[in-house]
Amino acid sequence: MYMLKRTAAYIAAVIITVIFAQFACAQAADRESGVLGGRVIILDAGHGQNGEGGAYAGYNEHITMLKVAQKIKALLESYGATVHMTRPEQSHVLHPVRSSLINKWALQEVKNSRQAKLKQTSNQTELNALQNDINEIDRLLKIVQSIIDDPEKNAPLYLNYVYEEPYDRKIHPDWKKVFEFQNDPVIRDRFLAISLHSDSTGTPVNKTVDGATVFHIANTHTYTVNYYNSYSNEARSRQFGEQLLDNISKLGIRKRSVQFGAYYILREHNVPAVLVENGFHTNDQDRAKLSDDAFLDKLAQVYADTITDYFNKIEPGVLPEQKPDPKPQPETKTEPELMESESESESEPQLAEPLLLSTPEQCRMPKSFTVYKQQSFKSDKIASFSPQTVVVYQKTENGWGLIDTYLGKYWVYIEEAAEKTENK
Ligand SMILES: [Zn+2]
Repeated sequence: MYMLKRTAAYIAAVIITVIFAQFACAQAADRESGVLGGRVIILDAGHGQNGEGGAYAGYNEHITMLKVAQKIKALLESYGATVHMTRPEQSHVLHPVRSSLINKWALQEVKNSRQAKLKQTSNQTELNALQNDINEIDRLLKIVQSIIDDPEKNAPLYLNYVYEEPYDRKIHPDWKKVFEFQNDPVIRDRFLAISLHSDSTGTPVNKTVDGATVFHIANTHTYTVNYYNSYSNEARSRQFGEQLLDNISKLGIRKRSVQFGAYYILREHNVPAVLVENGFHTNDQDRAKLSDDAFLDKLAQVYADTITDYFNKIEPGVLPEQKPDPKPQPETKTEPELMESESESESEPQLAEPLLLSTPEQCRMPKSFTVYKQQSFKSDKIASFSPQTVVVYQKTENGWGLIDTYLGKYWVYIEEAAEKTENK
């Protein structure tokens, strides 16, 4: 009996040891096999010294985000990745310098790949083409370096800096060349840039607003459509953003949405990139998490896992399917329908009189919603959006609100869809 018990205990111990060993092995194998070998991840810890970035109730965005970046870096390097930081320490780095660093690291990588090919070919035409590329990249690298060395003088020559409205600036031909080199699979399939932030509401602070948001570049964005509209990373960046927010939400920070944003760190290069707001530091629950070092360890692990998963899913050279253009699509109508709608349009929809709000109101739209050209379902549909907080400028008595979108100001039926989050 005693022997039997001992044998059973021994078997159980062996099983447990084997399970643990397998678990530990899987993690060690990830590291040893260098699952992220050959991948280049750029971490941009938002803001910096100089009183930049959000601060609230003892919390400092730029300090916390640098901490998170350092934790992510350590994990990624243990998985074999190359990691660059635009701000490796508590310092002040201008936006155009951050973008230029991304361009520099990406161009250098394309140059390295051309040089490697150069050694493998004996075909004279190919040799010439490769050498031309290398010479051109060297010329562009000098420009990029001149911006890093003296951003105030040189950034306005090449970047959309200082940011100009009404967004009709065209990209500089040399800067466009930089972007075109970055369309190379060497960059598209192997690079990822992540800008780390935490969010806040305007003053007065609205503590009820919480959750994480991801921004990425879009070719149809009002702010970039005239500037450069051939970013090759839109779908990739969005895919990563969706995955990341799903995973962050498992740590208790609510998924808000993946949206378009034309920030410097997304706009002034053509590397797959996201800007992440890791929760609202003006919300007590989110801030408590972001102020806890053990939570930041978990958050860094979520980043490392999501990045690994993202790269594992990439098929070299194959771009993910582009989602439907968020701009309104012309509806393909059969002829009778077309005639019908044309005759219908003769009777204009009855529009309720809008009231201009003296102070714009914030409204949380907890479900996906559609914006219309006018305050009527019969008017043109402009675009649909994922759940998010919107700012309402005008209202009608029958429940319509005029909100600001990246396409301009349009109407949404807010009466039932929205939870009001007005400032008290
Ligand atoms: Zn920020």
